[in-house]
Amino acid sequence: MKIKFWGTRGSIPVPGLSTVKYGGNTPCVQVISKNKEIFIIDGGTGIRALGEELLEKYPDGTTINILLSHTHWDHIQGLLFFRPFYKKNFKINLYSNAMNGMTIEDIIKAQMHPSFFPVSPDIFEAEIEYHRIHPNENYSFKNFSVKTINAHHSAGTLCFRVEDGGTSFAYMTDNEIYYNTTFEVPKKESIYQNNEELIKFAEGVEYLIHDTTYRLKDYKTHVGWGHSNNISAVLFGHLAKVKNLFLFHYEPLYNDETIDKMYVETTDFLNEIECTLNCEPSYEGLEITI
Ligand SMILES: [Zn+2]
Ligand SMILES: [Zn+2]
Repeated sequence: MKIKFWGTRGSIPVPGLSTVKYGGNTPCVQVISKNKEIFIIDGGTGIRALGEELLEKYPDGTTINILLSHTHWDHIQGLLFFRPFYKKNFKINLYSNAMNGMTIEDIIKAQMHPSFFPVSPDIFEAEIEYHRIHPNENYSFKNFSVKTINAHHSAGTLCFRVEDGGTSFAYMTDNEIYYNTTFEVPKKESIYQNNEELIKFAEGVEYLIHDTTYRLKDYKTHVGWGHSNNISAVLFGHLAKVKNLFLFHYEPLYNDETIDKMYVETTDFLNEIECTLNCEPSYEGLEITI
């Protein structure tokens, strides 16, 4: 399967000259199976451009599956600008573990309230099916199986483990890797004790896309915000025995230069602990075959 990143930024889009290298759009990752099943994780602002590509590739329509990790604004902000919603012959399955007394359909309707948007959901021409998903389940699609687990984030946030028979990856954002923060640098033992279930969930995947919103030095003032730092993510990936780690969901205050620095700090730490885990910073437009 192939994975393409359409948005790698957390919290709010930050387009501009200082974010050209890693991109300014919020989370959206496309998964492409061998027989071209369309599978999208998260509807951040990155999904808009993906919609344009799909309209061009499938002028007669197709079926699209969209899986939402959660409905915080940065993960759904692009949905209403995903033009397949407004086209006949498209079928869209929207999967979410929406919480707080609202279904995902309620949330889409709320986004289209006249205070926020000029038209109502009646304008959608695609056939849309809303699906509720839950943690600790296994869902089967044509080409993929998807396992779910609760993240360390606001209630209802899910992490996904996607397998296609041969390969696997885990998508874990927004997720805070807990540990004893009285130490300057996180300790492996503390990471294991506080995240055992999530580590087992990701065990052995070929690729781990993990929340690394902060550099370690900036995490100290954001403990409890539901996001991780680059060093705890490395130790998490190491404990889960994953092969590759992608840094993801960058703090909007970070420009390209800061993310470069975070990447250097990450690889330095990997060398220091003599870990063979391969680590890459994700960026908008990056496509990988796994
Ligand atoms: Zn987020
Ligand atoms: Zn969130």
